[in-house]
Amino acid sequence: MKTGKFFIVILLLLVAVGISFSQPAVEPGARVSFSQIETFDMGRLVRIGDELKYGSYIIRKIGQDVYQINDPGDIYAGGGGVGVDFYIVNGSHTSLVIDLGNDYINGRPSNNIQPRPNAAEEFLSLIHIIAGSRRIEVGITHLHADHFGIIGALEGTGIPVWVGHGEVLTASHGANADMNMFQIFNQGEKVFDLGGGVIIETFLVRGHTLGGTVFIDKHHNMIFTGDALGSGCGQSFNDIGRLNLFAIDMQRLVDYIMINFLPYERYTLQVQVGNSWQTAWGGSPDSFLPLIDLAFLDWCFIQDLATGSRLMFEGVWLDQRSMLHHLGTSYVSWPGMDIFMYGTATFVMPMEVARMAALLP
Ligand SMILES: [Zn+2]
Repeated sequence: MKTGKFFIVILLLLVAVGISFSQPAVEPGARVSFSQIETFDMGRLVRIGDELKYGSYIIRKIGQDVYQINDPGDIYAGGGGVGVDFYIVNGSHTSLVIDLGNDYINGRPSNNIQPRPNAAEEFLSLIHIIAGSRRIEVGITHLHADHFGIIGALEGTGIPVWVGHGEVLTASHGANADMNMFQIFNQGEKVFDLGGGVIIETFLVRGHTLGGTVFIDKHHNMIFTGDALGSGCGQSFNDIGRLNLFAIDMQRLVDYIMINFLPYERYTLQVQVGNSWQTAWGGSPDSFLPLIDLAFLDWCFIQDLATGSRLMFEGVWLDQRSMLHHLGTSYVSWPGMDIFMYGTATFVMPMEVARMAALLP
């Protein structure tokens, strides 16, 4: 190539690059039409375990017509910024979106969540592509900002957003949300019939919050728990009232599953949690156990939570030979709190709560 032509080619390249860089930046929260949003092909999600990246999300097929939306977050962020999971279950005529994840429309500085352009449209695109022609409903496990933060994306869409009785709607919980968008249901009464035999039941588990809902999907042999059962690296309780409610409701959940699931349904039951990255710890990070490779928790975890929380009220940890271990005071993950482990379950609380539960002075 002659030098003159070479410079013309370079000049044209520079002009092209200049044009692409000079596109006006979209302001955070600004609305664009769907046609401007990149989409994804559901044909790439065929087998269980197939996954693809979309925006900040990893969409993973975890069952026939069940999808986990993993937001891997940032390991150096705080709270839900480290990573959250929400789920979409498709029936024949309706899709249930269980939780919504972090707020990328407004961001959340305390969790190092930065707003990004087109977050609302990207989120809507995601749920509409997975739902296909089905109508969409949303069920929220509990009102913590990392699990319903991006609710603003649903404003004006007519998509119903449900939350269980007992959750506090008078505060925004750190989210930038219109709390009037929620419809309230009673756990145990509300059922989501998605069609084709996919029926999602609701179950109250208090402790983490006062109106936490576990969504039970018997068709796919899965339960979706948000933070109600914890995610494997510890369930914390600041007062004895919360610990007591948790022990009561976990025993009720165990009884319910014993009655309504056949033995091999129980043994293969998948517990899909709200912060799946925590399952790798298999207990408290303070226990210095090697990380484990797990996609979900199980029936053993549910029983250990029920039994362990009950044994806290019997002071069983005072006996060194017992299976409820007192690990000591946390200095890594829960500074100042004390850690107790029973099998696969970990309980974190101030020492005075543990002593009060054991009726110690
Ligand atoms: Zn939570």
